[in-house]
Amino acid sequence: MNFVSFRNLKLYQKITIVIFAMVLLTALSLYFSSNYIFKQNFELSIKKRVAETLDVTHSIIEDYHNRAVSALGIITLTPEFTGAVAAKNTSYINDYLRVIQSNLLLSIIEVYSKNGELLTRIEAKNLQNDRYHTLAESALLQDAFNKLKKACDIEFQNGVLQIKAVMPVVAPSTFESNGAVVITYPINHYFADLLRCITNTDVLIFNPRGELAASAVLNAEGQRDFGKFEFENDGFKKRHDVLPDFIFDAVNKKLNEKYCVARFNGNSYALGFSTLYKSDHSVAGIIACAIPLEKLYEVQKKTADFLKIFLLIVVVLTLIISYLFNRGLTGPLSILTQKAQIVKSGQIDDFNIPVASHDEIGILTDTFNQMTFSLKMMMNELTQTNQLLEQRLYEIKVLYDISQSINFISDTQELLSKIIQKTIEAVGAHHASIMLLNDTTDELEVKIIQGIAPHKISENKIDFENPSITGALAGAKLKSNLGIAGAVFGSAKPLIINDAPNDERFHKFPGTGYDIENMICVPLISNNKPYGVINVVNKNGGLKFSENDLHVITSIANQISLILEKVKLYEQSITDGMTKLFIHRYFQARLDEEIIRARRYQSTLSLIMLDVDHFKRFNDTYGHQMGDVVLVGVAGVVQSLIRNNIDIPARYGGEEFAVVLPETDIEGAYRLAERIRAEISKKAFEHNGKKVNVTASLGIASYPQHASNKLDLISRADMALYKSKENGRNRVSVYEP
Ligand code: GH3
Ligand code: MG
Ligand code: MG
Repeated sequence: MNFVSFRNLKLYQKITIVIFAMVLLTALSLYFSSNYIFKQNFELSIKKRVAETLDVTHSIIEDYHNRAVSALGIITLTPEFTGAVAAKNTSYINDYLRVIQSNLLLSIIEVYSKNGELLTRIEAKNLQNDRYHTLAESALLQDAFNKLKKACDIEFQNGVLQIKAVMPVVAPSTFESNGAVVITYPINHYFADLLRCITNTDVLIFNPRGELAASAVLNAEGQRDFGKFEFENDGFKKRHDVLPDFIFDAVNKKLNEKYCVARFNGNSYALGFSTLYKSDHSVAGIIACAIPLEKLYEVQKKTADFLKIFLLIVVVLTLIISYLFNRGLTGPLSILTQKAQIVKSGQIDDFNIPVASHDEIGILTDTFNQMTFSLKMMMNELTQTNQLLEQRLYEIKVLYDISQSINFISDTQELLSKIIQKTIEAVGAHHASIMLLNDTTDELEVKIIQGIAPHKISENKIDFENPSITGALAGAKLKSNLGIAGAVFGSAKPLIINDAPNDERFHKFPGTGYDIENMICVPLISNNKPYGVINVVNKNGGLKFSENDLHVITSIANQISLILEKVKLYEQSITDGMTKLFIHRYFQARLDEEIIRARRYQSTLSLIMLDVDHFKRFNDTYGHQMGDVVLVGVAGVVQSLIRNNIDIPARYGGEEFAVVLPETDIEGAYRLAERIRAEISKKAFEHNGKKVNVTASLGIASYPQHASNKLDLISRADMALYKSKENGRNRVSVYEP
């Protein structure tokens, strides 16, 4: 694993790895160091045991020495005994020595005569018939005779190492030697067995030549013969009958406790050597302690195996515990991290991460929860404010658009259409309409309807893909106290109806072909008096209308009222109060426009001038009031015969009228003038129960045939009118140059 990928690991993985590595390292060092210590201890304990065994051996040998010497003193001090030796009274000697031997635990007691002849020999039971006996030629014995002094030493005789103490038997009278007493302790197999009993360690005894002289080690058959030695020092390659030189070298260098590993008797042993010195400091023999290694190795191996398994379990347990602990510790952290990332991505939720502890992580989690909660609240507030702002901004834009439209769109109908369209877009609805009160019928009439409605294919199926224009409702009428519109109109209070089908006030227009689900209805108010309503129907996407939508529509309704008021004022300003035709000034302005338009499009326009015949006389006859009634009637005839919204009828002055006919040639104008004339002449006015009639004279001039400008056109139409008067009135004349 390289460093970069380690950095990418999760925190709990990192901590687990680090802890695991540390524990593994500790376990390995523990294992190796304990192995080393164990080995050291092992060696030390072996060396200690060897040293102890050798110490005990030396002590016993010394004890034998002392015991032998002191026994000799006791024996030879008795005058009866010395006398018996001098007299060679063996039976006495034997009886005497037997008592001594059993009391002092002496191994072998020999008594020699003056000339070196063996007088008697007493042996411990286990040594009876053994071959241990001192030769008369023993240097020790010769010394005892010659120098008359006691001596004690270790000798190697007859293949056996022996501890010997010699004491001359001196006649008290003559001070001459009558003989000698020898006490012998053989360092034999029994000796080795005894040492094993005491020290629990096998002891081997070698003679000065390095040959095995005694041993506590038995072979498989229970014999003490176990073949040859192989030493670790020469790689177990050679088989030795006697101790090799390197043992002697070590021994000679006084490395008393030479320690080595050897194989014999089919086993490995740790061997410790120690030298037995004679009194002249020459080597009397070599003692070796043998500790079988197999068993110890087995113990060591078992301990090592146990240690291995134990450490393995510790390592694995550590791994598991540290993993679980870290998961537990860093679990909340990783949840926190995830949630923080969610917050980073902009999705702020009021997280409620469970707080499992009261430590720093617990405090952090709690703080995080509170923080996200506050953030969420703030965001909500901000979003609401934003939405409101956006809504208001949009409202302002819509109202601005509408006010712009007021400036540019002269046609009221077009203007209202535009406003309704904007309303639909602003709140997102299927369609909207304006209903205005008809004073005379007391009905709310649909004046403007815009938008689309889903086309109903069958009773249960609505085709949203192919909506139909809401033509069916155009011009629909509703009594001003009926339906939702009636309710709103009556109360002058707006309504949001989000479940129209279940609202009992709801009035369904027949044949509309679709269902109204929800609607907003807002009154149009002028001078604190409702004069109509605005309806916005079916919110897009199956949604419901909100207070916000109501707010927008109310603003628009106010705007509509302003517009309609303005329109009303304007219409009043250009309309003649009595005849309801346009006033002279408006006529002049429109005629100017129409001539410019005709000039631009190279089209024709005609002008009809009309004057009531003998009106002065009529007034004089029937009164001025009756004259007014006639004027209104004549205007009504003109209004009823011209094209609505195309031709421009005006009261030119007094009892004179003018009609501008755009896109109309002389013939067309003549036909209309003739119909007007005929209708006026046919129209009967009642006066005091009598029917009275009037006639009118008309003159026609056309652009560009008769005039190239407005003033000429008016004067030529006027000239044609006078021609009609001249020719007898109640007629139509076309200008003739
Ligand atoms: P002619 O056939 O030649 O036109 O004869 P006339 O009497 O109609 O003559 P003229 O056109 O000069 O007369 C206009 C009269 O119309 C004068 C006036 O008394 C009358 N008149 C003008 N305005 C009004 C009005 O608003 N109401 C009434 N009742 N009479 C009006
Ligand atoms: Mg006149
Ligand atoms: Mg007249």
